[in-house]
Amino acid sequence: MAIYLDNNATTLLDERVLAAMLPYLQQQYGNPSEIYTLGREARQAIDIAREQVAQLMNVQPAQIIFTSGGTEANNWAVKHAFENSLIQNFYYSAIEHASIIETIKSLAKSNIASKVLPVTPTGLVDTAIFSDMAWAKNTLTSIMWANNETGVIQDIPYFADKIRQAGGYFHCDAVQAIGKINADFSTSLCHSMSISAHKIHGPKGVGALIIDKLIDPSPLIHGGKQERGYRSGTENVAGIVGFGQAAEITFNESIDSTQHCLLLQKRLENKLEKIPGIKIFSKHEKRLPNTSFFALEGIDGESMLMALDTEGIAVASGSACSSMSEKPSHVLLAMGVDEEYARGAIRISLSKHNTDAEIDKFIEILQKKMAVLRSISLTAEV
Ligand code: PLP
Repeated sequence: MAIYLDNNATTLLDERVLAAMLPYLQQQYGNPSEIYTLGREARQAIDIAREQVAQLMNVQPAQIIFTSGGTEANNWAVKHAFENSLIQNFYYSAIEHASIIETIKSLAKSNIASKVLPVTPTGLVDTAIFSDMAWAKNTLTSIMWANNETGVIQDIPYFADKIRQAGGYFHCDAVQAIGKINADFSTSLCHSMSISAHKIHGPKGVGALIIDKLIDPSPLIHGGKQERGYRSGTENVAGIVGFGQAAEITFNESIDSTQHCLLLQKRLENKLEKIPGIKIFSKHEKRLPNTSFFALEGIDGESMLMALDTEGIAVASGSACSSMSEKPSHVLLAMGVDEEYARGAIRISLSKHNTDAEIDKFIEILQKKMAVLRSISLTAEV
């Protein structure tokens, strides 16, 4: 039986979400820009989805702009601020997702300066720079709410408030936070926020940028003026409907699923801590209830990932995107973790579908594989 423990990479589509989407892939295929019945019905379905996402994020529906996912929303947040306001500098935490880091780096070519905000050894954004805020005027600062690898949660309302008061803009990547903690836009004081459907049992390829009522972004994609001209292109109706349904389920059920994950996380970490040579990163920080990131001393994380895969267990050795690169996690390196140690990192991310029995089975197989991999490396040394 396969055991899926990589829910920060993506999640299983909820059956209720699939049921809501199916009509819009088949009978209800109208283009929402058309004014005949089939088109109007598709438009109505998008309006309902916008209300469902707005409810989850505690905003007005007009503050939601649908995108193709978290990556696009992050690209847009960085680029729209650059185009429409007097942004002269970008500040971003060293542990941001690649969709923030690479977008800001791409702007460096247009002589826009950027600066990395360092993190502490436990993965919190270092607050030292926030004691004197002179730097923040005319800047865009981007800090993620919860890190996809360590699960560490940042104090977003604190940072956003500081930046606002200093005359800067604040963007938050909340892709990993929604559904796992109370990531409420209205009280967060952010100017913009990115979210994604496939992390909350919704479909892939759909997300949203949420914007402050006073922000008027310029479009990232130009064309037929869909999404009130902010994001052109015929809408992904089924995807948006699925996102809305997933948001409503999350709104109604996240307290239960969070509690379920928290109990599993405790069970997992209690067992992990009994295994010699395992260190759980940021163990004592406020973390997502579903995420445990740990290193296996003397074992390569990638080799362990492959060994577990042969037993049908899916885990990550870093973020979904960085698993395409050979470098150790930039998040761990930013926390000052030794490169060798960082290479042994394994991430477990849970969901409402995981069980006690799966955790126990995982621990049993992990220990077996550790013994095998250690004996292989001993043999290689001889
Ligand atoms: N931001 C974070 C923190 C993520 O973990 C991810 C996906 O792994 C993204 C952004 C990108 O979201 P999407 O897959 O919807 O493009």
